[in-house]
Amino acid sequence: MEYQRGPVPSGYCHGARGLLLGPAALWKGSGLKRHSILVVDDEASVRSLFVEALEESGHRVSVAVDGAAALDQLRDGRLPCVVLTDVRMPRMDGFELSRAVGRDPQLASIPIVVLTGDRILSFSSPARDKPFSVMELDALVQASCSLHRASGDDDGAADN
Ligand SMILES: [Zn+2]
Repeated sequence: MEYQRGPVPSGYCHGARGLLLGPAALWKGSGLKRHSILVVDDEASVRSLFVEALEESGHRVSVAVDGAAALDQLRDGRLPCVVLTDVRMPRMDGFELSRAVGRDPQLASIPIVVLTGDRILSFSSPARDKPFSVMELDALVQASCSLHRASGDDDGAADN
């Protein structure tokens, strides 16, 4: 229970304009889009870094210690607009989590971004490099959520 921060209101992230702007513009405040993000990592120190960086960008963050715990949260109805997950974790790794979410019709629309600190793995698998900075992380979240929005919301997507 200590890993959750309450339910995320549905529609929290939608209608953003900030997606179309570069990272510098995001930092000016107006147009900054807030998202709800589930961070999945078995390392407490890594979770803390992600939470701190994401909250600094104004996002709402919840955490899970591995893929199985993340899946439990999602199936309980605590749906973020983006899931950022590590690859190597006990019980259920990031790829397994991604597949399990993709197979669940209630969850399949949630973008799962699998991140790794392992360069080789980032070349040889769908996992991406872990972001190096708060800005890079924010840009990743903004971009990931545009995929989410594309499924049901075309507001503003074509006029730039
Ligand atoms: Zn969002």
